[in-house]
Amino acid sequence: MAPMAIRLTPHILSSIDWSNPLDDPIRRQFIPLRSSIVPDHPSLTLDSLGEEADSPVPGLVHRYPDKALFLATSICPVYCRFCTRSYAVGGNTETVSKSPQKPSRKRWEVIYDYIGKTPALTDIVVSGGDTYYLQPEDLKEIGSRLLSIPHIRRIRFASKGLAVCPSRILDVNDAWTSALVSLTAQGRGMGKHVCLHTHFNHPNEISWVTREAARYLWAKGVTVRNQSVLLHKVNDTVETMGTLLRELADMNIQPYYVYQCDLVRGIEDLRTPLKTILDMEQRLRGTIAGFMMPSFVVDLPGGGGKRLATSYLTYNQKTGRSTFVAPGLGGDKAKKTYEYYDPVEQPAVQKVAYPEWGIEELQERVAAAM
Ligand code: SF4
Repeated sequence: MAPMAIRLTPHILSSIDWSNPLDDPIRRQFIPLRSSIVPDHPSLTLDSLGEEADSPVPGLVHRYPDKALFLATSICPVYCRFCTRSYAVGGNTETVSKSPQKPSRKRWEVIYDYIGKTPALTDIVVSGGDTYYLQPEDLKEIGSRLLSIPHIRRIRFASKGLAVCPSRILDVNDAWTSALVSLTAQGRGMGKHVCLHTHFNHPNEISWVTREAARYLWAKGVTVRNQSVLLHKVNDTVETMGTLLRELADMNIQPYYVYQCDLVRGIEDLRTPLKTILDMEQRLRGTIAGFMMPSFVVDLPGGGGKRLATSYLTYNQKTGRSTFVAPGLGGDKAKKTYEYYDPVEQPAVQKVAYPEWGIEELQERVAAAM
C-alpha cells in the first residue's frame, strides 16, 4: 500500500532503536507499517507540487523565474516514505507505477540546451532522486557544464548522503566527494557558488561519523545547508527540532528550511497540522542565533512554490484548510489561491483489517518479494 519502495543504508539501520522500533523516529520515516496506515485526506496526490506540469522539458522543473530544478536521477540511497516526488522516485510498488528520470546524457543534453537558452535562470538545483547516486564523473560533468553557462551563478547539489551514509564522504577511494570539492573550488575560482543541500530530520541520524564527514566538508570549503521535513512523532516537538538545529549548527551545516509535510498519498500518519509549524517557529525564534534559524515553509500544493508558513491568508483550524497566495511568481500563478489541508483527524484507535497470514505464508511472501 505504500507509495515508496523501501531502501535503507547500514547507517540508518544502525540509527534505529531496535528495542522499540514501533515508536522510533527513524523507523517511522523509512519503514511503513501496515497497522499505522490511515485513510488519506482526499486532496493527497503523488505529485502534490505539480512538478510535471511545470516541466518545459522532461526532468527540469522551471517554476520560479530565476531558478530551476534539474532532476538528474530518480534513485536515492534511501527512500523516504514522505518523498515529495513519490510519482517518480524509487522502484514501482504494488500501488504506484513511477515515471522515472533515469540518468541519461541524452536527456541531460536537452536540459542543458533549455538552461542555456533561458538567460533568466541564475540558480540550478541538481537533485533527483539523490545526486549521491550519480557517478562521480557524471556529477563532475553536470557541474562543469552548468558552470560554463555564463548566466548560471549558483548551483546546489541535493543529497541526503551526509545524513544516511556519511562514511562515504570520508572514503578516500570514493571519488564522489572529491568531485564535489573540486566543483566547489572551480565555482569559487569563477566567482560562482556551488554548495551541497542535505536532509537531516532527527538528531538520532547524527553519529560521530557524521560529525567527521561534516568537518571534512567544512575543511574543504564546501558550504552545506539542511532542509528538514516536519513529521508527526519524528521531529514535531520544539525540543527535538531545537536539538537538531543546534547540532547542525555545531557541524557548520546551515539549517535552511523546515518544510510542512507535502500532501503526499499514503503518509497521513506522518503529517502535522499547520498549527504545529506555526507554534514551533514562534517558540524556537530567539533561542538560536538568527543566522542559524531556518525558514519554516509550506511548499504550496499545485506549484505555488515555498511560502513562509506564517504568511497564510486564512487558516480554519476546524476544517484544517489554510490558504496562501504567491504574487512573486507572476502570470496565472500570481492570481491563484493555493490550499493546504491539515491531516484528517484520526480516531484514537485505528481498526485496520489486515490479512491473517501465518508465519509460513509470510515467509513465502517475503521470499517472493526478494
Ligand atoms: S532522499 Fe529525497 S528524493 Fe530521495 S526519497 Fe528521500 S526525500 Fe525523496
